Amino acid sequence: NDGGHDAKNLRVKLVLLGDSGVGKSCIVLRFVRGQFDPTSKVTVGASFLSQTIALQDSTTVKFEIWDTAGQERYAALAPLYYRGAAVAVVVYDITSPDSFSKAQYWVKELQKHGSPDIVMALVGNKADLNEKREVAVQDGIDYAEKNSMFFIETSAKTADNINELFEDFVDYATSRLP
Ligand code: GDP
Ligand code: MG
Repeated sequence: NDGGHDAKNLRVKLVLLGDSGVGKSCIVLRFVRGQFDPTSKVTVGASFLSQTIALQDSTTVKFEIWDTAGQERYAALAPLYYRGAAVAVVVYDITSPDSFSKAQYWVKELQKHGSPDIVMALVGNKADLNEKREVAVQDGIDYAEKNSMFFIETSAKTADNINELFEDFVDYATSRLP
């Protein structure tokens, strides 16, 4: 079947991957609750949240979001979350070149072991820290383009581009309706 989708109620299984501390959990919290908590706890293993978006024509899109831990010791668990995911969001921190390298590791991992039709997005988070930027916007754009990914820079802190990130996937999910 098509993964449980029908014309009016779409489900999108989405997984967030990326180095620890890049802001994955804050992005999810901003999207789902509209909040930013600077004292948020480190994710252990993975956590699950869902958010449903209603479109004008009464179609709904339910995001089932798996937020993974970035720590090395959980890397072996990642396939449990990205297998069967329609969308993978790979996050780095624009102030951290290391996190950008780690993002590229995740992209390769998804290309090797993810579903062949998985949709990937590359997200440069903490865009509010532009004065501490160490990854050029163009480097993100170029890498995403080479790997057929969506690209966006976000700030979970200011909410900049958070809804826009998920709107890309809404458009994608609805474009695949029969
Ligand atoms: P995760 O390990 O990828 O889930 O990262 P967290 O969501 O736990 O965030 C790690 C740290 O980065 C926390 O101290 C957050 O307050 C901070 N953080 C997350 N997103 C942003 C952002 O957009 N801007 C800034 N300035 N800090 C952020
Ligand atoms: Mg987390």
